[in-house]
Amino acid sequence: MEPRVIAEGVAGEVARVLIVEDEPNILELLTASLELSGFDTRGAPDARGAVVAVGAFAPDIAVVDVTLPDRSGLELVGDLRGVRPGLPVLFLTARDTVDDRLAGFRAGADDYVTKPFSLEEVVFRLRAILRRSGGDGEEDAGGAEPLRYADLELDEDAHAVRRGGRAVRLSPTEFSLLRYLLLNSGRVVSKSQILERVWGGQTCDTRVVETYVSYLRRKVHAASPGPALIETVRGVGYSLRLAEEERR
Ligand code: CA
Repeated sequence: MEPRVIAEGVAGEVARVLIVEDEPNILELLTASLELSGFDTRGAPDARGAVVAVGAFAPDIAVVDVTLPDRSGLELVGDLRGVRPGLPVLFLTARDTVDDRLAGFRAGADDYVTKPFSLEEVVFRLRAILRRSGGDGEEDAGGAEPLRYADLELDEDAHAVRRGGRAVRLSPTEFSLLRYLLLNSGRVVSKSQILERVWGGQTCDTRVVETYVSYLRRKVHAASPGPALIETVRGVGYSLRLAEEERR
């Protein structure tokens, strides 16, 4: 089955993306790439322009550079949501440290990409956030495409997980954990990020994450004799990805 185009916002219309970025080359590149992927875009070179555009353009989602000339992108999010409450935000950040990422999440980011980013990744993240936010929290009557990685598949509508076509039975927490890993497949997420996103910051004991990852790993691997998918990245966290040799 062909994956359907899911550059959709509320009520199945083409999703509108506000891009706030002061570097003209990046703005141009993002605009061209997102338009090509089926999004309707509007660019703003600074925070002031973004606040004007959020009212006029009524975006479904915003891509916000963290370092803007007139205001921090982190602070801008509050201004944007003052005009459009609940507006999902994808941050662009040049700083690749866990602390900065967490500051971004505290400021209300739905996700982030680190510069230099691939355009495919931006498109992937935007679609993932839009799917999660489901157009103002309303159920998407058409049903979302399952999240997939290698032979692993997570169907949110049916609340079902399959590996190599075989059902994997997960508890609600394991399901949320796997969903978060799938949304971030191919990259490393820290234990703190997992705690924040899966447990909603209710606990700060990272051993909880370790325990649940081990449950999840056991169940996912018991379902299929395929390659290991949940990798431990020592001192950092976890990554849902195929080992180097499997990727070739
Ligand atoms: Ca910048």
